[in-house]
Amino acid sequence: MSSFEFSARSYEFTTYVDCKNWIGGEWVDAQSGETKPVDCPRHGKAMGNVAWSATSDVDAAVAAAAAAFPGWKATPLKERAQVFYRAKKIMEDKLEELSWLLSHENGKTIAQARGEVLKAIECMEFGCSLPNVAQGDQLDVSRGINCATTHEPVGVCAGVVPFNFPTMVPLWMLPQAIVSGNTFVLKPSEQVPYGAMRLAEVFKEAGLPDGVLNIVNGGKETVEALCDNETIKALAFVGSTKVAKIVYERGAKTGKKVVCLGGAKNHLVVVPDAEIKLTSETVVASAYGCAGQRCMAASVMVAVGDVQHIIDRMVEITEGMTLGQDMGSIINPQSVERINRYITEAEAKGAKILVDGRGKTVDGQPGNWVGPTIIDGVSPDMPAGCEEIFGPVLSIIRVDTLDEAIAIENDNAYGNAAAIFTTNGGVARYAIDRFEAGMCGVNIGVPVPREPFAFGGWNDSKIGHGDMTGYDGFKFWTRPRKVTRRWEMASDATWMS
Ligand code: NAD
Repeated sequence: MSSFEFSARSYEFTTYVDCKNWIGGEWVDAQSGETKPVDCPRHGKAMGNVAWSATSDVDAAVAAAAAAFPGWKATPLKERAQVFYRAKKIMEDKLEELSWLLSHENGKTIAQARGEVLKAIECMEFGCSLPNVAQGDQLDVSRGINCATTHEPVGVCAGVVPFNFPTMVPLWMLPQAIVSGNTFVLKPSEQVPYGAMRLAEVFKEAGLPDGVLNIVNGGKETVEALCDNETIKALAFVGSTKVAKIVYERGAKTGKKVVCLGGAKNHLVVVPDAEIKLTSETVVASAYGCAGQRCMAASVMVAVGDVQHIIDRMVEITEGMTLGQDMGSIINPQSVERINRYITEAEAKGAKILVDGRGKTVDGQPGNWVGPTIIDGVSPDMPAGCEEIFGPVLSIIRVDTLDEAIAIENDNAYGNAAAIFTTNGGVARYAIDRFEAGMCGVNIGVPVPREPFAFGGWNDSKIGHGDMTGYDGFKFWTRPRKVTRRWEMASDATWMS
């Protein structure tokens, strides 16, 4: 069935097919014929090209989604969910292929790519479970009067996703949106369009009717066309805060439901009674997983009092990492430059570089590389102390008290994740109750809530209302219908009348 099997099973550079648009069950070029190269970050050269869509391509995708909507909405929920059961099985069978493709387009290690695909498969489970959890409420509110709520699809929906989780983030949206009876237009990141392309094929093989899922590739103009399109009734965005704010405002102008997850600066607070092995290994794994290109990555470690023994161990672990094997590459050369600039600026302002990832390569080969980096003595007002770096850089801010640590976390504009490392339950509770973050952890470096819990930050890490994933995702992609009924038997009714 699959026509675009990805063949690589190693990190060797491998070219791939061009990524077109998926509209009404067909692969089509952008109407202009324009494409842009898709660079493999590990090797720093193009593995293929991606279609570059304009408003007319978005309109075609939306028309296909609108045409498919009545039939899909009329398909029973249990049947819609069966498509996702089958798609989940196909993804499990193709785990290796999907993981290698993801590793090649995004640059993450194969272990981390497998982790992403497995998590993406887990996201499918919630869609599969909707027939068991999506019932509405009903109550007799007066004599003979009953009120009921049902959850109705909104119509054509759209999603815009970032580069860092090309397979998983689309599946934060598609299961809840599509199993609920909506049809969808997805705009993948132009830097990593292949994961979504393969998902389109997986869903086709699983029996999803043509037009229910459509994909338009491109950049800013494509997203603007999605925001402006009045047929689209709900739009979810995941990416940087700067773009999240633009998309929220522009999408809301046409009356859509819009939720936009943005960037992050996550604080991990470590106090002296923290368990040394768990804390050092967990903080390092959080900072350098996916080369720090995760919205849930540890970005700042707030070291309270004397935690030097933990920092020493973190330095040892970090120095023992092998670039290219334990940590993957950076998405593009501009990001490498930005990350290096943060390190250099912090150093110039007096911070101490404990582990320096600048200028590192894998065997002197080209590719976009920065090694894992620890900067000590960062202050909250340095760019490395307050801005999103989105790379493998951990900034250590030293303070004397837990209250100072919490104040630093609270003052930051973002609010995606925050965590406390301690062996004292009272300390943990005190910190969690005061963090200004939507997702908090105790002795957890990447406190991603797993389904059925929802995912979403606070403050500048989320613009809009509601969360993504879990039941909140289902609520976002549906609208409640309230029905009040009175049926009374007419006094002269007989079964023959
Ligand atoms: P980005 O904001 O540059 O791009 C995201 C999407 O928006 C892409 O599809 C891109 O084509 C599009 N886009 C880019 N510029 C645009 C513009 N001016 N107008 C309209 N659309 C535009 O983000 P990225 O670099 O792909 O991803 C990294 C960012 O995503 C980081 O800030 C990270 O924290 C964030 N992120 C957040 C979460 C979360 O759950 N909060 C999850 C993953 C990534």
